[in-house]
Amino acid sequence: MRLLADVHAARSAAAETLVDLGRGNPDVPPPAHVIEALVDAARQRTTAMHGYAPFSGLRELRWAIAERYSSVYGVSLDPDTEVAVVPGTKTALVEIVLCVAERGDTVLLPDPYYPDYPSGVALAGAELGLLGLDGDAGYAPRFDEAPPEGVAVVFLNYPSNPTAAAVPPGAFADAVRYARATGAVIVHDFAYGDLVFDGRKPRSFLAEPGAREVGVELFSMSKSFGMAGWRLGFVLGNAELVRRIGEIQDHARAGIFSPVQHAGIAALRGPQETVAERRDLYRRRRDFVLSALGERCAPCEGTFYVWLRLPDDVTPARLLSEHRVAVAPGEGFGPAGTGWARISLAIPDDQLELGLERLRVALR
Ligand code: PMP
Repeated sequence: MRLLADVHAARSAAAETLVDLGRGNPDVPPPAHVIEALVDAARQRTTAMHGYAPFSGLRELRWAIAERYSSVYGVSLDPDTEVAVVPGTKTALVEIVLCVAERGDTVLLPDPYYPDYPSGVALAGAELGLLGLDGDAGYAPRFDEAPPEGVAVVFLNYPSNPTAAAVPPGAFADAVRYARATGAVIVHDFAYGDLVFDGRKPRSFLAEPGAREVGVELFSMSKSFGMAGWRLGFVLGNAELVRRIGEIQDHARAGIFSPVQHAGIAALRGPQETVAERRDLYRRRRDFVLSALGERCAPCEGTFYVWLRLPDDVTPARLLSEHRVAVAPGEGFGPAGTGWARISLAIPDDQLELGLERLRVALR
């Protein structure tokens, strides 16, 4: 009897533990050789390693990312004029707006959008506009409904956080056309570029003819290599915009710790199996979520999220208080997120399993 009581007590304690499916922090560390490169570099007691790093990034690192763009995405870039090294792309997506938009200009964000995009818009004193996405057409941007003038910047993000859509056919070509017609700058956020499933190839905006004349792409080391805490990313493409980001780097930041850059080189040039392993892990978890909640989910083509439609009477707050499961509320991603929630796949399997069990009960 005593044993049974203990089992019951353990069960109810487990039932009360919060399962957090809301977070978006990679749960797999960087490859071992990348950590070793950091440690090896940091052990060298030289000015080259511990003094100010070149403000525009190590040349070798700019070459390494340009090589990746050529070999993986089929894009040839000049490492000296078309690549800026930044401490994570979060910084760049704020700064690019400050570099381009004047007060009163409009900055268009895809709806739903990654919640950090509005920050640069607010800092620049610009107006936030929304670019509708067609959920029935792979979340393609509705450029036909976008303003014909007054737009300084348009953000795009494929694979998309939060919708998990890969880029639909024609979306990048439409973006180039719109930019040419209106003078707007296109900023493509490629943070989840390598995380695409079901045989899809990663698709860079810069592979689109004319793209580098009208915009830039942001590539992050955070998701492809599990280096989110290291703060390393790139702004690539349009040489004038890259130069402006470089100015900020020169004057406001004075370079990135050299060992982190050496580790970045090791990640980009070293063995690449872990990129595929990471992608396969998220794909496996994606399949698991879709098998449990599939009919409520948008097609999940990439990233490490699933975009889930909630029934009218179920809110994220209710999921939290009544079912002890946290999800990222859709409203936080813009008006089109109302009635939706984002589930993360960057969650250990046992937690994901428990969270899904609770969601299944809640959504019944
Ligand atoms: N864009 C998107 C869509 C993201 O989800 C994130 C991180 N959550 C970032 C950009 C920022 O990435 P980082 O600063 O780590 O490069």
